[in-house]
Amino acid sequence: MRWNLQVFATILLFFTIHFSFSQKLQEKNLIKHLVYLSSDELKGRETGTPENLKARDYIKNEFKGMRIDSQYPDFFQEFRFTSRRENKLLTGYNVVGFVPGTVSKKIIVITAHFDHVGVGKATDQDSIYNGADDNASGTAALIELARYFSENPPQHSMIFAALDAEEKGLQGAKALVGDFPFELDQILLNVNMDMISRNEAGELYVSGTHYYPEFKEILKEAAAGSRPLLKFGHDIPGTGRDDWTQSSDQGAFFEKKIPHLYFGVEDHEDYHQPSDEYKNIDPQFFVDSCNLILACIKKIDEVSIIP
Ligand SMILES: [Zn+2]
Repeated sequence: MRWNLQVFATILLFFTIHFSFSQKLQEKNLIKHLVYLSSDELKGRETGTPENLKARDYIKNEFKGMRIDSQYPDFFQEFRFTSRRENKLLTGYNVVGFVPGTVSKKIIVITAHFDHVGVGKATDQDSIYNGADDNASGTAALIELARYFSENPPQHSMIFAALDAEEKGLQGAKALVGDFPFELDQILLNVNMDMISRNEAGELYVSGTHYYPEFKEILKEAAAGSRPLLKFGHDIPGTGRDDWTQSSDQGAFFEKKIPHLYFGVEDHEDYHQPSDEYKNIDPQFFVDSCNLILACIKKIDEVSIIP
C-alpha cells in the first residue's frame, strides 16, 4: 500500500514538474547559448568574419536538433549588400526556421540579430566587443522559443529568424522582408528582441503599441504581475533617440507596414562597449525576460486568431 502511494506520488510529482517546466523556456540552454555567443572565441560576431559564421552555424545546429522546418536550404538565407563603412560588398546569412500553425495561415515572425560589431582597435585592454546583451541575449531567446514552439505547436505559423548584419543597417531584416517565402500580408506580426538581459530598474520595454494598439491589452494580460515589469513606450514619433521604431530589425517590417512589437531594455553603460560581456548581464533578469516574452507570444497566438 505504502509502495503504491509512493509510486503514485512520484508519478504525480513527475507530471507536475514536467508540466510546469514545459510552460517555460529551458534556463540552462538560454544561459549556455548566451555564454557561447558572447565568448571571446566568437570575437564579437561581425558580419563577414569567420567568427560570425561560427555563430551562424551554432544556431543552425540548434535548429537541426529540433522538429523545425525551413523554406531555405540548410536554414540559410544568403544575401549580399554593400557595407557603407568599409565600402565593400559583404555576404550575410540569416538562419531561418519555420513551425507550421495548427489553425491559421497567418504568420508570427520572431526575430533577433546574432551579429555584433566585432573587434576594435588593438589595445593593451580588451578590444573584443562581445555583445552579450546586444544581442547574444535575444539570439539565445530566439533559439529556445523555436524549441518551445516546435514542441508545443502554435495556432499561427511561426518563423524564427536569427538575423545577420543588423549592426550594418538592418541588412538581414531588409533581406528577409525583401525575399520572404510567403506573401507579406500573411504576416500577423513581427516580434523582435534586441538587448533583453539587464536593467537595474527591473524593466523590460515593449515598443510598437503606439502604432499597433490592438496588442496592448493582450500584452497587459500576459504580463500581469510579471518580473521584470513590462513597460510600454519608446515608440512616439518625433522623440528622436527615444523612439525605437527604427532602431533595430523591426524597422524593416515597419517600412513595409507590417505590425511589430520590439522587446528591449534601455541603454546601459556597457552598450556598444567591449564590456558588454556575460559577467555584466543579469542572468535572472535575462531568464525572466525570456519567459515574459514567451508568455506574451503565447497570449497573442491564443487570442489573435485570423484564419
Ligand atoms: Zn542590437
